[in-house]
Amino acid sequence: MAQFRIRTSKNEVLSPNDMDKNDRKLLYDKCKNENVKLFCNCNRTCEYKVRNGTWAIYPCSQRKQADHEDWCPKSKVYLDKRAYNAGFLINDETGEVRVYLSEPLTYRNQNENELNRNRPNQKVPRNHERDGRRYPQHQQGEITISAMIKKMNMLTFKHVAFYKGNNETAYPNTSVMIKKMFWAEKRTRIGTKKKCIADFKRQDDGIEFVYKELAEIPSYSANDKITRLVIKEEKDGKAVTIPVYTQELIRALEEYENTYSTNDLSNRNIILAGFRDKYAMYNLRFLLVNDYGLFSESIYEVQMYNAVCEIINQHKFKEKGVVFYKPFEYGYGAYEDKYLEDGIIEFEGTNRKIVIEVYGRNDEDYLKRKSIKTQMLSKKDNIYIYIPWEAYNNEPLPYRKICVEIEKVLKEVMM
Ligand SMILES: [Zn+2]
Repeated sequence: MAQFRIRTSKNEVLSPNDMDKNDRKLLYDKCKNENVKLFCNCNRTCEYKVRNGTWAIYPCSQRKQADHEDWCPKSKVYLDKRAYNAGFLINDETGEVRVYLSEPLTYRNQNENELNRNRPNQKVPRNHERDGRRYPQHQQGEITISAMIKKMNMLTFKHVAFYKGNNETAYPNTSVMIKKMFWAEKRTRIGTKKKCIADFKRQDDGIEFVYKELAEIPSYSANDKITRLVIKEEKDGKAVTIPVYTQELIRALEEYENTYSTNDLSNRNIILAGFRDKYAMYNLRFLLVNDYGLFSESIYEVQMYNAVCEIINQHKFKEKGVVFYKPFEYGYGAYEDKYLEDGIIEFEGTNRKIVIEVYGRNDEDYLKRKSIKTQMLSKKDNIYIYIPWEAYNNEPLPYRKICVEIEKVLKEVMM
């Protein structure tokens, strides 16, 4: 799960996803004036150039595609798996994201008159034609709104993990990460829409994206049309609230309970996310995150991700080129297109990676997956260091082991 990166002939490593037009123009000038050449970070043969005017970073020779290493996002192995990621397609050259939803963005039964007069969205068709290709199966070509929000969360976290500007050498807390989500909202577009998610305004477009930290769900009655949820933001000394359609709140709570096997939202970091219309939120989702804003699939994942972030922050590992993130794209990770790793720790200057796995349950299905994962990794032991946590066994979190393994790889890199 590498990020597409460019290495210059002056040995600088750049991340095109994070470069804006101005950065790209500067790079173009540098290539021209200082005779700098650009290569894919995985090797010294796949050359890239900056296109004059559009400032896109493009490969010089398609023929050389085969020269990319398998783990590189430009490799054939990865490109063959693109269909799996088609619902949330990241354009490596521009960094823009195009999302194809399996459910419409329209709201349900509220404000019928408003809705008909000023319909905010066209329905997203289940099967859509794109680039002359059809994605007949919803699993492969389209994703739910929940999945989109989770992927945007993980994309933002990954961006922050790799980002080196502004002396940002530590993983920030959830409230900062919520603001950073704007970065993903600015580059994500749904279907054929020209506007990015960040630019939807409820007055003009009828919809607006919401991504806030939940403070409290007040008591409500199912008969109330709207319930106001308290968020962790203050305005003029008062807690800010967000109106949600009560029926949608009930549905979102059920979804939360099914996902996390608990209906307890207290003492946890919960994001409320989704879309709202002029009056209230519909398409509401509750997302469990760790102390650093990273989406977590269980309370065990929260603990594990907290531990990894803490370790990296305390030892200032980010300054030494250590990057931790939660993968969300299939194709070229440790388990190819079969599974995603629960967490990856990468290192600048080496292909070595630490794979974090959190085993929170011991039902049959889970154990089978665990044995396949373990087997797949053992075949690639020159690349991956496997750190599983058998949380269901009451095994203590392997805090020390994570530290030791990171330090070991850093020593290898130094040699
Ligand atoms: Zn490459």
